[in-house]
Amino acid sequence: MTTQDVINQYGKYVMNTYVRQPLVLVKGKGSRVWDLDGHEYLDLFPGWGVSGVGHCHPWVMKAVRGQSTRLMHVPNNFYSPAQWKLAKALIDLSFDGTVFFANSGAEVVEAAIKLTRKWGNSVGRHEIIVMEQSFHGRTTGAISATGQPIYQRGFEPLLPGFVRVPFNELQAVERAITPKTAGIMLEPIQGEGGVRVASDEFLRGVRRLAERHRLLVICDEIQTGLGRTGTMFAYQHSGVVPDILLLAKTLGGGFPIGAMIAARSVSEVLGPGTHATTFGGSPLACACGLAVLEVINKKQLLARVSSFGGVAWKRLSALKGRCPIIREIRGRGLMLGIELTTDGRPIVEACRAKRLLINATQQRVLRLLPAMTITRAQLDRGLSILEEVLMEHAGAASSQQPAASNQQSAE
Ligand SMILES: *Cc1c(COP(=O)(O)O)cnc(C)c1O
Repeated sequence: MTTQDVINQYGKYVMNTYVRQPLVLVKGKGSRVWDLDGHEYLDLFPGWGVSGVGHCHPWVMKAVRGQSTRLMHVPNNFYSPAQWKLAKALIDLSFDGTVFFANSGAEVVEAAIKLTRKWGNSVGRHEIIVMEQSFHGRTTGAISATGQPIYQRGFEPLLPGFVRVPFNELQAVERAITPKTAGIMLEPIQGEGGVRVASDEFLRGVRRLAERHRLLVICDEIQTGLGRTGTMFAYQHSGVVPDILLLAKTLGGGFPIGAMIAARSVSEVLGPGTHATTFGGSPLACACGLAVLEVINKKQLLARVSSFGGVAWKRLSALKGRCPIIREIRGRGLMLGIELTTDGRPIVEACRAKRLLINATQQRVLRLLPAMTITRAQLDRGLSILEEVLMEHAGAASSQQPAASNQQSAE
């Protein structure tokens, strides 16, 4: 079967809900993936952040092999050893509370909406303040919480009870608070929204408002969590501790899992029978989660992310000085956004032609979420390819529209 054959079969049998790149991937190791024809790619956007410890990490593979020979699934009307171990490990890393396990990001967003409503409804509150340009997933509740009309259009009526405010604007949050407000939900760094970093000041202000009005702070760290920004959780940069913390992507090392961590006093409102999932927190998923935490800890990935993040930041900032199509570099640790003055998609394609995989979001923002296990040589090589492609496109842009590039340098 050729790549084109596979694409044709997708056309016939797979629902056409995704924009896909024309690559059939069959193998991965660390920061490398291989296509059907045996071509090797350097992956600086592994699994949309799912493969945070790299593709097929040996410790995750070992966990899958071990657990899958004993027991893969235990429904939640029984106990299993792996679930409490992963819950305890996550609590030890975050704050005192309890954990609800699900299978994806959107599912824990839904869980957080339900928990916040159940917590607030007893005192007549149900509204959740959310941020413009946020992204919380694709289920009906999650798109209602999401601050981007593009994900909502055509699916109305949406779930009511969400109040949208501009990101990083504390006064807007304050103005949006009513006697019906139960919580404030945000991403410490908006990923899909274009790698936009919440200022520490904003996060501290949100926490202060929450204290004053007795509201829950919900941190969606599905993309930023588990080391990505150089601390275990991105909220730790600001010192602000949320009441509810949402994790998914990196946690399973490639296996689907989501986790909602809630402060003890809050989590108590979800008693037996109030929320459930058939698959959530299976021994297999939890074994993968434990393996991922062990990799982050024993391989000292936080220090690595900080150091390599600094290297990447320096190089991209220097490039910005030379490359007129770069408007801004944003991010923290190994979560990096490069906002361009032009469409990012041709850059993604040109990188792919040079066997480098990256992402573009919000049309003009290139996004890198390299595996935290990436080697220095791989990172350097990836950045060199990206640099080459960006300089080529900058040259093309300036030779086509000299006026536009002059304007750019005058800014
Ligand atoms: C990916 C993502 C989600 C949705 O996760 P799924 O597993 O795709 O449902 C929610 N919030 C953020 C911040 C994300 O990055």
